[in-house]
Amino acid sequence: MNLLEKRFLRSGKVKDIYDAGHDKLLFVYTDRLSSHDVMLADSVPQKGEVLCRLSAYCFANCKDHGIETHMVEVLDPNKMLVKKLFLIPIEVIGRNYLYGSYWKRYKHGEIQLPEGTNPVLAARLTEPVVEFTTKFEAKDRPLTEQEIVSSGWLGTPEISQIEKTTLELNALMLKDAERAGFILADFKLEFGIDEEGKIILADEAETPDTCRFWDASKYQPNKVQESFDKQIVRDYLEKVKGWDKNQPMPGTKLPKPILPEEIIRRTRQRYVEAYERLTRRRF
Ligand code: ADP
Repeated sequence: MNLLEKRFLRSGKVKDIYDAGHDKLLFVYTDRLSSHDVMLADSVPQKGEVLCRLSAYCFANCKDHGIETHMVEVLDPNKMLVKKLFLIPIEVIGRNYLYGSYWKRYKHGEIQLPEGTNPVLAARLTEPVVEFTTKFEAKDRPLTEQEIVSSGWLGTPEISQIEKTTLELNALMLKDAERAGFILADFKLEFGIDEEGKIILADEAETPDTCRFWDASKYQPNKVQESFDKQIVRDYLEKVKGWDKNQPMPGTKLPKPILPEEIIRRTRQRYVEAYERLTRRRF
């Protein structure tokens, strides 16, 4: 058994996590892929590398703009050393467009849109919205500020700080996306607390796995939009006979690969293209 195996802590959906000393973790970004909330047995070569390098790019940009992140060092194209944090068990969602669960909640009369927003599917919000959801429940559930405070996870000043950082990061990512010909519809972030009680951006950021990117050239309001990275797999699976009927429960893992080579090749190409367009660097 090598050193890495000994220090293995856990596997998330996308990353494998290793202990790297008392205050650090090693993140290995894997090529695992999910669709329709189900983990597929297929993997996309170099997807992990794209996610790791995009996160590293974003975290470096954060540093330049005074946003503290958990990144310590990139060890390999798909391996990042990070500061070990107490993870706040909340997902932070930033939204620029009326889509996904936000659209559903709007249709059910559960939320008020920023004033002046055109109330149609995929409309741009007149101002960005920051929301919080649960992280460890089977289905993500929106959390009010009051619920967060009374759970004891965060106080009002910390919540405001996270909102401010999320909006700052949104502005940075919007700049990249616009320059790249992408629309950044929404995204999720995770934050942690270090030993001194400081709130720090954790996990990953500006990746296709944490952001909903649309190709700006295909955007049309009042319509379902194509996901830049996931659409090829989604379209394929929806055509697979029996997929819908037999679709496993969200959160499960498929036992065997089902994607043809060509679908995997084109999906890999999408991830690489996202990297190159967002960072303006060759992969
Ligand atoms: P998931 O747990 O959602 O399946 P991943 O595969 O991305 O996700 O695994 C990463 C896990 O590591 C997540 O649970 C995330 O909350 C956690 N994490 C991210 N950054 C840190 C950090 N700096 N310290 C401790 N845990 C972290």
